[in-house]
Amino acid sequence: MWRTLQFYEERRRLVEDLKSEGVIRSKLVEEAFLNIPRECFVPEHLRCYAYVDSPLPIGFGQTISAPHMVAIMTEELAVQPHDIVLEVGTGSGYQAAILAYIVAKGGGHVYTIEIVRELSKKAVENFAKAAPELLNYATFVVGDGSKGLELFAPYDKIMVTAAAPTIPEPLINQLKPGGRLVIPVGNRWSQVLLVIDKLRDGSIRIKESVPCIFVPLIGEYGWSRYGYE
Ligand code: SAM
Repeated sequence: MWRTLQFYEERRRLVEDLKSEGVIRSKLVEEAFLNIPRECFVPEHLRCYAYVDSPLPIGFGQTISAPHMVAIMTEELAVQPHDIVLEVGTGSGYQAAILAYIVAKGGGHVYTIEIVRELSKKAVENFAKAAPELLNYATFVVGDGSKGLELFAPYDKIMVTAAAPTIPEPLINQLKPGGRLVIPVGNRWSQVLLVIDKLRDGSIRIKESVPCIFVPLIGEYGWSRYGYE
């Protein structure tokens, strides 16, 4: 009980910091951050760092992204409660839970795809512990998300939480007209977060958001095609 209260206090403080830095800008994202306990998505021995604004290791050479990056990406995605969302790179499941919190308000849904089977399994466990009431709003899939997830396409919004060498074409194809894709694109050591809108006439508009550093997107439309796993 004491730990729960302490984590809540740390979470509240982090949210205040992210708001004052202009990173959290909307009520929806603020509420999601206040209600999803990040401590449930980090390994047990790192729980005391859950509210430090930093990425943390989650095994298999992967990370849970820093809270400010989760906030920036969620704000840039402009996710609405009725949206059908695809997340590529489930990792710990934290970003999926933030998105599910928002779409649960309006009957939307989050599909999240992860290439490492063990991480996907752990993400479901984390999610069930953190937010069992949101389980109906999220579907976890194991596979190569660089190809998107054709089965449930098209999507209103797509978020990629790993760094791509180029914009994967299947993701553009699986976006609805009027939809948005947020994806870090660049080389293996530094990237720019791109916000890509598919306009009603099918044309594409690209905005550069912030510089960032993500683990690589592997798979057919990721770094694997350059011989790097
Ligand atoms: N969104 C995650 C979270 O909230 O914890 C953090 C994602 S982590 C920075 C990137 C994830 O992308 C890793 O778990 C990695 O295994 C996964 N990944 C890399 N390439 C992938 C691919 N082609 N398809 C699906 N997942 C992929």
